[in-house]
Amino acid sequence: MKRVATLPQSRIHALHCAQCQTSYSPFELQSVSPCCQQPLVADYDMSWPLTPGAGINLADSSMWRYGALLPLLDEANKVTLGEGLTPLLTLPRLAARYDLHALLLKDEGQNPTGSFKARGLSMAISKAKELGVSGCIIPTAGNAGVAMAAYCARGGLSATVVMPRHTPEAFKEECYWYGAQVELVDGLINDCAARVRQLNAGGELLDISTLKEPYRLEGKKTMGYEIAEQLNWQLPDVLLYPAGGGTGLIGIWKAFREMKALGWLAPEAALPRMVAVQAENCCPLLETYLGHQPNCHNYTGRPTLANGLAVPRPLGEPLMLEVLRESNGTVVAISEEGMLEGMRELGQQEGLFVAPEGAAVWMAARKLLAEGWLHADERILLLNTGNGQKYMSNVAGRAWA
Ligand SMILES: *Cc1c(COP(=O)(O)O)cnc(C)c1O
Ligand SMILES: [Zn+2]
Repeated sequence: MKRVATLPQSRIHALHCAQCQTSYSPFELQSVSPCCQQPLVADYDMSWPLTPGAGINLADSSMWRYGALLPLLDEANKVTLGEGLTPLLTLPRLAARYDLHALLLKDEGQNPTGSFKARGLSMAISKAKELGVSGCIIPTAGNAGVAMAAYCARGGLSATVVMPRHTPEAFKEECYWYGAQVELVDGLINDCAARVRQLNAGGELLDISTLKEPYRLEGKKTMGYEIAEQLNWQLPDVLLYPAGGGTGLIGIWKAFREMKALGWLAPEAALPRMVAVQAENCCPLLETYLGHQPNCHNYTGRPTLANGLAVPRPLGEPLMLEVLRESNGTVVAISEEGMLEGMRELGQQEGLFVAPEGAAVWMAARKLLAEGWLHADERILLLNTGNGQKYMSNVAGRAWA
């Protein structure tokens, strides 16, 4: 039998409203903040003297090794499929080709259900179970719904997944196999969110929408802890991330800030510049960042091969912009053809069949190098958020330019 490591005692002590900082209990079921209808963010007691890495359960080879900095209180409620601790790969052939000093890729496609969404949903469903929830509902561009369906099955909760009709068959099919109820909607994830509000008007189900419950973010932040641990507490100079709803970007940055507060990172060490990568077909963050619109509230997006990036009106936009500002980062958008080119290059040069989202991240690095924003001697870390296999119906037959 697989050995289950014990969960270190969680140091969570509050949730705060991302807009006005009002404090709320982390020991009750919460959604968005009652004060501002904005995301709630978890706070931990950081007042323990710790050397880098102390407090990590090394016997646990999943994201749960950082349990002290995660919100789950009781081991018995943990719903896990072994998510996290994904490989941090070097890309030597691409580095040589582009004359780069250090090029790394964290491969989140190796997670259960084939994407980094496993982290967020393992955490959110564990907390839902801990707080006595019996069923969950989610609007999704694909991967989050699949992950929710899997973790709900594993935790004994009911799952309702609402996704765009044009989502690749593999995503729908996997949800069916986990026994989820699946609703198909004409439109993008924001249209699915409207359908979720209808279906759940009575509030019987917990709405697991991005940043509408506080704990998917806590699962996602473990990517930041792992990157630091895997690089022996020396963070890269630049980190590129495909941003849709934004929990990955916001979560990784949260982890970096927490590790600074814990003293796990040198106080004088600079944190990475964070690059949000979007699809040209749906790039609300870029439009706001460039000042073409005050915010994304009226943005209209089009579908993209990178289904996870088709998020026209992300609730987390202000938090993403804050990360870009604090880290001196930027936003880049990549075309559909560019994503296919990136998939070919990562496939042919490095043996990686990445999601179009991950390919966009590599193409963004190339673009920023060409523009001189990124330098060949910097340590560059790419996040591949998903496995290409799920996107087969989007990309089949296009391996040749
Ligand atoms: C959901 C998703 C994204 C976007 O992630 P956010 O955390 O919502 O910004 C990127 N890539 C893939 C493969 C996804 O499934
Ligand atoms: Zn508030």
